[in-house]
Amino acid sequence: MTYLNQPDYVRYICNCGSLKPISKIYFCRHCLKIRCGYCVCQEVDSHYCPNCMENLPSSEVRLKKNKCSNCFDCPCCFQTLSTRAGLAPVRTILTSSEAEEAKDVKATPKKVYYLFCSLCRWSSRDAGIPDQSVATGGWPELENPHTTRINALIDYHKILASIEKQQCERKKFRPKRSFMPATMYSFTSALVRKRIGHPIKPPAQSQSTAQPAPSVASEEVEELPSDIFTEPVDITKLTTLEQRLQHPDAQAEKINELRPQHRQFLVKRSQRCRVCEHNVSKSDLCPQSTKFKILLAALYHIPEVKIVTCEPLRPGKASELLLKFCNPTQHQTQITILPLDTSLSTSLLEEKEDLKQENTQQGCESPNLLPSTVRQVPVTEDPKSIKVAPNADLVLPHSPLILPPRDDAAEYDDTSDNHNFQDDPKLVVWRKGNKAVIRLHVTPYENNENEEPITVGFVMQHGYVNTIATLEHKPPQKVDVKVKLYLTVGQLVGEA
Ligand SMILES: [Zn+2]
Ligand SMILES: [Zn+2]
Ligand SMILES: [Zn+2]
Ligand SMILES: [Zn+2]
Repeated sequence: MTYLNQPDYVRYICNCGSLKPISKIYFCRHCLKIRCGYCVCQEVDSHYCPNCMENLPSSEVRLKKNKCSNCFDCPCCFQTLSTRAGLAPVRTILTSSEAEEAKDVKATPKKVYYLFCSLCRWSSRDAGIPDQSVATGGWPELENPHTTRINALIDYHKILASIEKQQCERKKFRPKRSFMPATMYSFTSALVRKRIGHPIKPPAQSQSTAQPAPSVASEEVEELPSDIFTEPVDITKLTTLEQRLQHPDAQAEKINELRPQHRQFLVKRSQRCRVCEHNVSKSDLCPQSTKFKILLAALYHIPEVKIVTCEPLRPGKASELLLKFCNPTQHQTQITILPLDTSLSTSLLEEKEDLKQENTQQGCESPNLLPSTVRQVPVTEDPKSIKVAPNADLVLPHSPLILPPRDDAAEYDDTSDNHNFQDDPKLVVWRKGNKAVIRLHVTPYENNENEEPITVGFVMQHGYVNTIATLEHKPPQKVDVKVKLYLTVGQLVGEA
């Protein structure tokens, strides 16, 4: 998997026009199209603390300012702090008679707790924070010096938001009030008032009074202390910029003024196709789980192309290019390599050779037309123009390449089973399981003056069995999916 972190030599074109490696794209099974990060809606599913794995609803998370109340980060190195228990001697003033008794009974020391970083050895004791008698909570909170101002601004923006919401709702519901499905839209108090005949409170009334006084720019700044030019600087006692920005409201200057920070919550996100509104990725809600409920990563649906080798490239000379294709699906697929200018529209095949079924009556129905209760107006964007220009000719093979389905057990099977494919020996160099290497020829153009890396492109058409239809008790549909790819094969070497 290390190649996933390498530069992107093989890039797939998303329908929006962006070029992405296969590890960064999704394949929407409903649209049968590639969707990249720009073509999906991001939704926050759950918030959780990465340390104690506490999972909270978003309303509560907002109240806690997106921070876990039990876990702390080290203010020096940002690792999680651990709570250590220690013993503190009980120092009480005793009367003379009690002191005599205490001589017999050994003073039981009290258990106390402090925070400690096992990475950089920062501890709450060094910072002068008093030890706590309980293991969780009770740590002194640093008051933000600007709390009042921030609260005033938040309140003001809450008012603005509610005014905007009311205006939106009035616009939205006036024309077709009778069709309003109560289950789909939540009623606001303003709507209820309107329904029962009360006038909606004039919203603009409070706007002017609640507006906080705007900040005023001032040229007067505090004078620098006089010893700043004379005192030697000890950088080991000063905080770094990163440490200050970790706590922007206090921005402590000295190391011993740093205070532990509440650990921030992380979120679990799901991604939704912008066009058909189906999920392309949805993780398990439980914070401990790393599983996905839905994961339509392109890696599991579209054949992966890797560059095996490419002979040294010289202008005007053909060089051998070896490409490895891998079929990640559970169905046999046929890969055809087509020229770059092929139209990318997906064609539906009637069930043919492999699935000899006569159920062709549903074969022409587009899988985009799935009934969906959440269907909304599709949000589509015009695709961007592709800025990559191929600077080499690629000789395309005449025969298609057949790849058997993925078989995880075959990975460990050394007996070479070639499935008796009638391969063209000039095209197919190597084959094992669901993988095959083919030989192509690249001829770089003569006039490559900018010394840009040599890029070739082609359209890969592969048979895809869409099992979405089986959920609707239809036979699986076989479709031909076309994907455009650009490959950066290398630099030109010196003159031929
Ligand atoms: Zn895209
Ligand atoms: Zn926590
Ligand atoms: Zn630390
Ligand atoms: Zn879609």
